[in-house]
Order: sequence, then structure tokens, then C-alpha cells
Amino acid sequence: MGMYATKNSSDDGYSIDTKWLKKYDYFCGFKYGGIKWTNGWGHEASISFSVDTSFMNSPNIRFQYSTSRYGGEKKEMDYSFPLVKVPCNLGGSRWAFQCTLCKNGRYCGRTVYTLYQAGSDYFGCRHCMSIVYESQRHSRSKFEYFGKILDSERKACELRKTIHKRHYKGRPTRKVRRLRRLEKRIPPTGVIAELEMNLLRK
Ligand SMILES: [Zn+2]
Repeated sequence: MGMYATKNSSDDGYSIDTKWLKKYDYFCGFKYGGIKWTNGWGHEASISFSVDTSFMNSPNIRFQYSTSRYGGEKKEMDYSFPLVKVPCNLGGSRWAFQCTLCKNGRYCGRTVYTLYQAGSDYFGCRHCMSIVYESQRHSRSKFEYFGKILDSERKACELRKTIHKRHYKGRPTRKVRRLRRLEKRIPPTGVIAELEMNLLRK
């Protein structure tokens, strides 16, 4: 088992970025490790991954974790994304992920510095994750869907203020369970921003 560094999930949901990987020295040949996310309410999630930038293979990050959906079935995930070097303006280069997800039958292939896991079993770029959210809105209109997100955000915010006790007899209280359900409906900030931009465009 490798090292697990902790990240706060309140800002951008579950995400992993190459700046963070660099900070923890993952681009050193081969390194196995993971991330554990915690939010202010003791909700935890973690994944394992290995970063391979040795000469042996083409550079890649391999994710290994099990999805733990609320009340859902567990699924063992094991997949890789290629890593690419992007030249910097001032010289040198920066590592980036290549998102190899297929959404709506189309291969993504975008070069990105951050991957998100939002409403999907997989990590993927912001674009792919916003498609996941789009597909979850069913027949609702874009405006209605966006309104629902803002609504959930407001409700979660108000609920948070009223929670004084998080556990009762070793179990999360009803309010805490409700808050977790609300939080699941709120996409990461990046995805919300993208949705908002889509709304303004049309
Ligand atoms: Zn993508």
C-alpha cells in the first residue's frame, strides 16, 4: 500500500491534477500511491493509483479503486490514462493527462491537467463530466436542471447550519444523511461553471 495524501473535496469534488502529483513527486519513474478526500462532514473517499513515467512503458496513470455508491453495488475499477508532456512557454514541460473516455459514442482525447469524478464511475476531463451531468437531467430543460443544482446548493447550505450532531449511536443522523444526498446532486464547481457557460451561449 502506498502513501495516501489527503485532499479537501469541498471545492471541486473529487479531482486529481498533475500539479498535485508533481508536488508529491509522482513523476519519478514509477510510484504507487493514492488520494483520500475528506469533506467537512467526515465523509471520506479514496482511490489508489500508480504513475509510470519509466522507460519501460509509455507514460500512464493507472487507477484502481472500487466505487462506493450510496446504497449501490460496488464495482472494481481498473483503467489507465496516458500521460503526455506539454511544453511550457518559458521552457521545460508539464505533465498532463489524456482523457480517453468515450461519451455519447465519441472518443474524447483531450489533454487536460485535472481529472474529475463527478456522477460517473470513471475519472474524466471536465467536458466529459459535464456530459455525464447533462445526461442525468433526463427530459428536463437546461434551465430547470441548473435551477435544481442551485436549489440543492442552497438547501445544503441551510441544512449545514442546522446540524449540531453528526452521529447518533454510531450512525450518521437523519440530517447528515439528507445532506449527503443533497451533496451528491451538486456537481464540482468546474462542472457548474461549464453548465452556466452553456446556458449563456444559447
Ligand atoms: Zn474527456
